[in-house]
Amino acid sequence: MKYRVGVIGGGQLAWMMGAEARRLGMELWVQTPNASDPGVSNADQVVIGAIDDLEATKKLVENCNVVTFENEFVDLAALDTLVKKGARFFPSLAFLAPLLDKYDQRHCCQQLSIPVPDFALWRLGEPLPEGWQFPFVVKARRHGYDGKGTFIVNNIAELQALPETLANTPLLLESFVPFEQELAVMVARNRQGEIRIFPTVETQQIDQVCRWALAPAAVSQAVLNQVENIARTLAEKLNLVGIMGIELFLTPQGQVLVNEIAPRTHNSGHFSLDACQTSQFAMQLQAIADLPLGNTDMMTPAAVMVNLLGFEHSIGNYAHKRQMLSQIPHSHVHWYDKTSASPGRKLGHVTIFSETKRREKLRAIAQQVETIWYEGKSPT
Ligand code: ADP
Repeated sequence: MKYRVGVIGGGQLAWMMGAEARRLGMELWVQTPNASDPGVSNADQVVIGAIDDLEATKKLVENCNVVTFENEFVDLAALDTLVKKGARFFPSLAFLAPLLDKYDQRHCCQQLSIPVPDFALWRLGEPLPEGWQFPFVVKARRHGYDGKGTFIVNNIAELQALPETLANTPLLLESFVPFEQELAVMVARNRQGEIRIFPTVETQQIDQVCRWALAPAAVSQAVLNQVENIARTLAEKLNLVGIMGIELFLTPQGQVLVNEIAPRTHNSGHFSLDACQTSQFAMQLQAIADLPLGNTDMMTPAAVMVNLLGFEHSIGNYAHKRQMLSQIPHSHVHWYDKTSASPGRKLGHVTIFSETKRREKLRAIAQQVETIWYEGKSPT
């Protein structure tokens, strides 16, 4: 019988994982709320259920060799009841525990002597803790993604304009980092403790949403060493089995700080699907199935991954624009087949190989894609 992996979550990450599962001769079972979710079309079996639907997860556990995650909006206490009955989750619940909440993540990094921005707990309406000055960043501790739940606050007017809905949300206050670049790295570890680190990338966020990633990042060896040390330390100390993405800030002084840890595959690793010998999705499957880990070398000197974000409410499939993007030399277009588009929604991505690693050239390629895709419209 084929090795069977269950995945909680059925978005585009599960869709890409499904294609890689097939290549590795595995079966993928997907737990997702809707039959129209992107992950369904590449799944061997679908269990319809919300991400925190324990009965649905039970079905995955009963039918699969291991169960893994494509998003972190899970209920650990509930999943623990399944572990007590023998369920095998990779990564483990103990690994996930400090990573589901942004405050816990910061605290965990601090314990491991990994640099993070200054942070404090806060609630809307409370006075600011002593010594806090503008600008700073307010973040919902849980359930944030694509900048939802993250607010950069420059002055008293912006502080007063924070949405009232945050009043009941546990919040994190964070010093604003005037970063020079944002970086990201994917790291995988299997049950034997074997570790693989993908090339570090530079990411570009606009209005807190990732627009593109340049691989490899044009940074010094000293910076790369800091990034890789952080990745290795987190993977080892937290006992990762699977893959995680780490988003980082590079300060003007050349210091690397952790912004966020995603305990799963991540948008910043999408370039690996076409540009690396092993993709982040194959790597996750290899790690949790206890297979030897593949090689992360790039198969091109450089690559640019550009997200195709929605810029309107529509049910169109943008076939013409996709056709134009596929005509750019050395481009690989991935379309998630979502049933509808809305501003900011991730509808697909394009990866374009480049012979040169020059940052200006890579940025120009990203601009070329955006010009075709957005035609002057904005996703946010
Ligand atoms: P999400 O979890 O929604 O991805 P993040 O916490 O990663 O949100 O923040 C999204 C973006 O907001 C970051 O990529 C960065 O551009 C900006 N940002 C977040 N925190 C800070 C900070 N402390 N200083 C400066 N910019 C920040």
